[in-house]
Amino acid sequence: MGDQWQKCISASGTVRGVAIRCTGLAQTLSELHGLNGDLAKALGEALVGGFLLSSYAKDTERMNLNVRGDGWVKQALVDAYPDGTIRGYIVANDHAVIPSVDLTGEGPWGRGTLSVLRKRDNLEGKNEPYVGTVPLLTGHLAKDLTFYWLQSEQVPSAIGIAVNLSPEGKVTSAGGFLVQAMPGATDEELSDIETQVNSMGDLAKEISVDQDPIHLLSRIFQDRAFLLLEKKSLRAECSCTWERVRKALVLIGAAELNAMLVETGDAVVKCDFCTKEYRADAEMLREMIAEGQS
Ligand SMILES: [Zn+2]
Repeated sequence: MGDQWQKCISASGTVRGVAIRCTGLAQTLSELHGLNGDLAKALGEALVGGFLLSSYAKDTERMNLNVRGDGWVKQALVDAYPDGTIRGYIVANDHAVIPSVDLTGEGPWGRGTLSVLRKRDNLEGKNEPYVGTVPLLTGHLAKDLTFYWLQSEQVPSAIGIAVNLSPEGKVTSAGGFLVQAMPGATDEELSDIETQVNSMGDLAKEISVDQDPIHLLSRIFQDRAFLLLEKKSLRAECSCTWERVRKALVLIGAAELNAMLVETGDAVVKCDFCTKEYRADAEMLREMIAEGQS
């Protein structure tokens, strides 16, 4: 089963849902970044969260999910696009990973902030990026994203995110869902969906079975009719280019570039998202220094 999201809407047109399966991507990206155990899980959860955000973004938007916490990671950064592409990485915390059973009830992400930046890349003119930030209230990504949607977008939502690991700490499955009330949803409809979501039991178990995401939607909507709106395959893609790296290097300034020239004779820049390395040799560095000074 390939990575994909499937979107649907209730026959009444008032409740929409998306179910996501991104096991392959969570495996590929955690391996690319050399992550294991809780760190692999954190990246996997952040990827699912990114997809949940981008699945309802507008065509030209980029959604950036930025979670900063004091739990199992210091930061998770994910860029997700409505075309089903994603890139992301995490920054590990210096301190030891918190125990998985936390008696205070605080989730593994700990305390901190969750920010969502909506950015339109392809539009001309003044398009101010929109940022919504909420505190990490529970330390559970799904719950805190639910709070984000309510607080920042005023949309009542139910969210589930699950990532399973092998005993060796490798990702074995990753996925999740988002169900949202649209204008006109009745209280009865909402409480029905809520009951279904709550009675679904263990999402991690549900996700561990390699099946079509539509099964998850069926579980959520139960005997309410829904229409499948979209099926999209998901993939990892990074937008880094040599031109962007070069621009960033020029901005560092002549003094820094000179220091690199003297010390190593070149500059190597590694993309945080895809780990691709870009190298500027001595001649390129001299050009950039000249450019920065002109
Ligand atoms: Zn890259």
